[in-house]
Amino acid sequence: FSHGKPVPPGKTPVPGIKRIIAVGSGKGGVGKSTTAVNVALALQAQGLSVGVLDADLYGPSIPKLLALEGQTALREDGIFAPHEALGLKIMSIGSMLTKDQAVVWRGPMATSALRQLLRETDWGDLDVLVIDLPPGTGDIHISLFQQAVVDGVVIVSTPQDLALIDARKAIDMLRRLNVPLLGLVENMSYFIAPDTGTRYDIFGSGGAEQAAADLDMDFLGAIPLVMSIREGSDAGTPPMASAPDGPEAQAYRAIAQRV
Ligand code: ADP
Repeated sequence: FSHGKPVPPGKTPVPGIKRIIAVGSGKGGVGKSTTAVNVALALQAQGLSVGVLDADLYGPSIPKLLALEGQTALREDGIFAPHEALGLKIMSIGSMLTKDQAVVWRGPMATSALRQLLRETDWGDLDVLVIDLPPGTGDIHISLFQQAVVDGVVIVSTPQDLALIDARKAIDMLRRLNVPLLGLVENMSYFIAPDTGTRYDIFGSGGAEQAAADLDMDFLGAIPLVMSIREGSDAGTPPMASAPDGPEAQAYRAIAQRV
């Protein structure tokens, strides 16, 4: 928790927020946003007050995942009132844009937009803020890690080697910036056939666990490739909300226990 901890020079805590966890990945499409939302809901199920900041400025998917409607309200005092869905407080660059509007911003504009979303939102008191980072490593990451106290980062990867190689670059950047790594999550780890329940290790098994060991970081858990995760996410009902006792929700809860 950032409260009571010496704050590194140049980094400022966000008032009211006790702990910030960022979720990153080496490349896009690995399920980073899906994992961020479901882990946020799993933390909430522990009794914590939780917010989600969608910092994936170039591919904001949190509004779709949580079926958020409309724009974020900018109050008269210049502070954003976050969306609320499933008990989470949510801010996303996506809800500041009209549908299909692309973000074509230069780096400094993107980093100042993120700073505003983080610091000029009425988060209230949060135990945890989960930040869904853009994939890869870039200016947005560096500026976020330099300006705000991020207590730890979770890296999401699929089992394919290429994704793991990309994830290694992200991990290397975090180490250079002295940001604590909480561990690696393997998403789309294996497939369970909906009709027979048979498990298929499509990409082989244990790739991310081995990579975590090689990189000297914790392995936080594996999430299967399940149709219900894709369907629920596209419909705005993540498995942690629609089937909180199901096996997918259990996988997310286990990860939340370890962050
Ligand atoms: P990213 O944030 O890494 O770009 P998303 O979270 O947007 O990725 O996920 C990409 C797509 O994969 C979405 O359609 C999502 O519903 C789907 N998806 C993510 N995780 C799983 C999973 N474990 N099983 C099935 N589909 C998944």
